[in-house]
Amino acid sequence: MHFSKLRLTGFKSFVDPTDLIINDGLTGVVGPNGCGKSNLLEALRWVMGENRPTAMRGGGMEDVIFAGAKSRPARNFAEVALSIDNSERLAPAAFNDSDTLDVIRRITRDVGSAYQVNGKDVRARDVQMLFADASTGAHSPALVRQGQISELINAKPKARRRILEEAAGISGLYQRRHEAELKLKSAETNLTRVDDVVEQLA
Ligand code: ATP
Repeated sequence: MHFSKLRLTGFKSFVDPTDLIINDGLTGVVGPNGCGKSNLLEALRWVMGENRPTAMRGGGMEDVIFAGAKSRPARNFAEVALSIDNSERLAPAAFNDSDTLDVIRRITRDVGSAYQVNGKDVRARDVQMLFADASTGAHSPALVRQGQISELINAKPKARRRILEEAAGISGLYQRRHEAELKLKSAETNLTRVDDVVEQLA
């Protein structure tokens, strides 16, 4: 899947709607220190479902909302929209009915995050799975933030293995296995309860 456009509104330093057009080939972002280059990469990770505030260099997720400046008041919400070229129809089946996928995440103060894909409300998990299955995703090794290389070198084998699994595109399967295990556990608990009731009735 090819990302074609990223639109940021009220996200960190990008208070006014700002489009980043991503053409075929290499896209470079240059600018002075503090102009918002890393914020762009964080917006990309965030719209794909990142839910760790620390990965956004913040204490809480609402820290991604424009916090105000001398001449501008703080915003009440932040929104990032990612347009994906799906003309080759590589998206997972549930989203594979159009040539473009527009994924939107919006966070509103005291309300939290909401996601849409092509105008339809979806769950965070749906968006995370969409990208996990496509081997991109918020934790994709293709997104390298500052300091990450040294973290990788110093990482414990287990953490390093997780990175390799993400690259191999199997992290979506692990998530599904985890959910299946939770369901199994709850079914087992229900069965035990049924056994108890049957025993009492006998
Ligand atoms: P460097 O080249 O030094 O790594 P950079 O171009 O990557 O810098 P960023 O780290 O992306 O810059 O941007 C930092 C800027 O974003 C700072 O000026 C900071 O004040 C601003 N910023 C971060 N969060 C918010 C927020 N919630 N509201 C307003 N501005 C914010």
